[in-house]
Amino acid sequence: MNLRHFLCFALLGAAACGAHAADTDWTTPAEAAQFRTTPSYADTLTYLQRLQQAAPGMIHLETFGSTPEGRPMTVVIASADGTFDPAAARAAHKPVVLVQAGIHPGEIEGKDAGLMLLRDIAITKKYPHVLDHVVLVYIPVFSVDGHENSSPYHRINQNGPASMGFRGQSQYLNLNRDYVKADAPEMRAWLKLWQQWLPDFLIDVHTTDGADYQYDLTWYTEDPHKLDPAVSQWQQDTIVRHALPAYEKRGHLASIYLEFKDGADPRKGIVNFGSGPRFSTGYAALQNRPALLIETHMLKSYANRVHAVYDLVELMLEQVNRHPAALLAATAKADADTVARAADADATVPLTFRPDPQSTPYTLKGFAFTLTASDISNNPWIRYDPSQPKTYTIPNWNGLLPAISVTPPAAYVVPVQWTQIIDKLDAHGIVYRRTRAPMTIHATSYQLDDPQWANKSFEGHVMLRDFKLHPVPREATLPAGSVIVPMNQRAANVAINLLEPQAPDSLLQWGDLDAVFEAKEYGEPRVLEKLAREMMAKDPALKASFEQKLHDDPAFAANGYARLHWFFQRSPWYADQHVGAYPVLRLDPAQLKALPGQASPAHP
Ligand SMILES: [Zn+2]
Repeated sequence: MNLRHFLCFALLGAAACGAHAADTDWTTPAEAAQFRTTPSYADTLTYLQRLQQAAPGMIHLETFGSTPEGRPMTVVIASADGTFDPAAARAAHKPVVLVQAGIHPGEIEGKDAGLMLLRDIAITKKYPHVLDHVVLVYIPVFSVDGHENSSPYHRINQNGPASMGFRGQSQYLNLNRDYVKADAPEMRAWLKLWQQWLPDFLIDVHTTDGADYQYDLTWYTEDPHKLDPAVSQWQQDTIVRHALPAYEKRGHLASIYLEFKDGADPRKGIVNFGSGPRFSTGYAALQNRPALLIETHMLKSYANRVHAVYDLVELMLEQVNRHPAALLAATAKADADTVARAADADATVPLTFRPDPQSTPYTLKGFAFTLTASDISNNPWIRYDPSQPKTYTIPNWNGLLPAISVTPPAAYVVPVQWTQIIDKLDAHGIVYRRTRAPMTIHATSYQLDDPQWANKSFEGHVMLRDFKLHPVPREATLPAGSVIVPMNQRAANVAINLLEPQAPDSLLQWGDLDAVFEAKEYGEPRVLEKLAREMMAKDPALKASFEQKLHDDPAFAANGYARLHWFFQRSPWYADQHVGAYPVLRLDPAQLKALPGQASPAHP
């Protein structure tokens, strides 16, 4: 304070002193605009920097990455006593809660709610003790470039703010499909932040599309079959039994996530939206961490939606702050269970899930609606009447059951040359060790046949749609520097989901390993003519099989090259190319034990 300010302050009081008044006005940009608009990233950071300056012992800003367009990615660390780093949080037995806004930057309530909540914790002291026993790690805007790509025309279904960010980041990737494949620089930065803090609980804030109903917020947690029982139990207890009842007492109406089986008729019931490892909550499940997906309802006012997020995040922090040891115990137990599983030869891990055929009744607080035959779509056109609240009892098909499961190996082996696989292990912080000398090992792997790809790209990849797989024993010579990935590590489920071909977001399914399906050498027709004759002369059964194929398959019979290639595929010249040999190997406990002892210490 300079002399002029001092005199003003002393003589007239704070309210009359212009400069000082500005310092004490903590209205957030969205509040100042009566929630008609949401601030730019620069204005968001300006407000957060003011909070940091005013409460340096509680609020601390860091940059955790850079976007493709060169913007800093900012994270706020908040705690009552200045616990601003992961080691200090662990030493103080404080759980770490990661709240992220703007992974879909057009759905930005979490940013504006976060600014208000940090102010009400650190400045106005409305909730002075909510961070006494918790460290909050808060990403105000995850997809920063997408946030700055703002337009009134980005979300046709949504009721404000006036201009909003774009779903893809600047390389047109949807970050909430990128958790496992980790293509986007923003996701690589997020994964580093995750490994640095290893949060105990994740809250990911979104806005719905879809139907109209009374609820101002819907929420989703992963099915118990995808979670360690300790994590599932904590979610049920903390979110369902405690936070949500308190939330409704504040005047909100919340529902489980509403994915209607038939968008034109809510009475047919709700289904699971099909989360998985590529999504935030699905990835947290692989990391043994509870996670809460929040979806505000896109047709409510922006002010209503921001307050809906504010209240639920505040109540979740209250719950964790009240029982910090319960959350720490749940995540520690889940990690210990995963490590211990490696010693259980009978353990299986589900990779895919199918709907439970058993539904349960669900009370939907919806609106009356009409169905009109449309001459444009030729389908029924649903129109809701928000002036007529109506309650329906509908079937809930959200439950899942495991479909494909695998027995995890004692360790996976990735030969040194498969750098794209090792790069993904590194991105996810998977612990491995490297071999120091060439060695020949006995292992099992998979033979992959009959690959079929999707007919269009998804998130920049043409995904594998179908293939046949069978386990095969394999003797392999590994170059030095090959990677041994033991399964007695806390993030084993991430490794399994990257490396098991049948996992829905495996590197194979995303098309990262397509080259294994390609034959590199071929046979000249004039050479194959001779080879075919020699093979048939030696093997009458082969000759009969060829003749049967000509009889059964007219397209084959009409294709001269296919007829010759049929023989090439059955020759040693083809077999020696190992087409379809999956490069990642599986070691059972005895094979792992038999590995020569020159492995270097675990990394990282
Ligand atoms: Zn979203």
